[in-house]
Amino acid sequence: TLPLNRALGLIREVDDFPEPGVLFRDLTPLLADPAAFRAVVGGLAAAVPPGVDTVVALEARGFLFGAGLAAVRGLGVVPIRKPGKLPAVADRVTYDLEYGTATFELPVDVLAAGQRVVVVDDVLATGGTLAAAAGLIARAGAAVVGAVVVLEIAALGGRDRAGVPVRALHTV
Ligand code: 5GP
Repeated sequence: TLPLNRALGLIREVDDFPEPGVLFRDLTPLLADPAAFRAVVGGLAAAVPPGVDTVVALEARGFLFGAGLAAVRGLGVVPIRKPGKLPAVADRVTYDLEYGTATFELPVDVLAAGQRVVVVDDVLATGGTLAAAAGLIARAGAAVVGAVVVLEIAALGGRDRAGVPVRALHTV
């Protein structure tokens, strides 16, 4: 796991983004490094719980890791998207953020009832995003077996709020 540790060390801390007082973890240096990206995708693929038959990836950074791990595991990938991006929407959920709300949409006819899903995102912070996605997936009749993320910010308590088992490659 030496490459994985080096990869996680490439995560950059940016002060005051997206607002003053917030410390943002920027994964772009990790994504841009071939060995680091490969190590992280491999780590996520290994963390997928047993019995999963599809990957659901969350816009936008979850797409990068979710697509990579789905290909490695021989699975398909379903995008959950922000409003106005999908041509045909099966269902949507609006959820609370620290300031305001956000909406997620699920595409028509790509997630089947009874499918066993792993949800992928880059960072687990408060857990609101993951909880909203899990609710949307459950309403489609699919089962969220678990979630995998690159980085968990433990102090924000997202693991409890998420409502699904979460595996993180790294916790701060
Ligand atoms: P939550 O809903 O758990 O509070 O926030 C998680 C969502 O916001 C994820 O989709 C994640 O991409 C984004 N997010 C929150 N904080 C950070 C951060 O520090 N770095 C990155 N890269 N994403 C973050």
